[in-house]
Amino acid sequence: MSGFQLNINDLMKKAAVFHGHLCPGLAIGVLVAKYALEHGYEHSPDEEIVAVVETDNCSVDALQILLKTTFGKGNLVHLDYGKGNYSFYNRKAQKGIRLALKKEISNYKDLSRDEKIHKLLEFEPEDVFDIHEIEFNPPGLALIDESVPCEMCGELTMENRIMIYEGNSLCIPCYKESRK
Ligand SMILES: [Zn+2]
Ligand SMILES: [Zn+2]
Repeated sequence: MSGFQLNINDLMKKAAVFHGHLCPGLAIGVLVAKYALEHGYEHSPDEEIVAVVETDNCSVDALQILLKTTFGKGNLVHLDYGKGNYSFYNRKAQKGIRLALKKEISNYKDLSRDEKIHKLLEFEPEDVFDIHEIEFNPPGLALIDESVPCEMCGELTMENRIMIYEGNSLCIPCYKESRK
């Protein structure tokens, strides 16, 4: 399937414009995106491709701009595990892959920021990640739910986030406040 190779420096430039600066985290995200793009996880104008990331660091911005898996569309899911793991699902092809950051990468801690970026961009994604196919088991499609006003603050709140407290429909902050 890997019939083409994208230029890593072009991808990095594009990602840096979106992210705002150059950093090693972004370089890691660019390597993830490069592998995904080259293996059938193409740009996702809608929710065709889903990314599940286990970190919320700089790397995720490379996925948002290069793969168009974005927070707003709901095809970027964050699991707050603090791990360099990235899973992708292609709804059309019904397949999934997972890239897990290899522990050897932590050996480069002593390099300067620029040296780290340079070093990372010289690698192939396979050097940096353990890569495996995974079962096709993506998160559900984004829900488009009605919003209703919270009975305490009056702010519009998605119905599936409304909490009931003593018979009132409340938003989460008001629910927490009421229970104090
Ligand atoms: Zn950064
Ligand atoms: Zn409220």
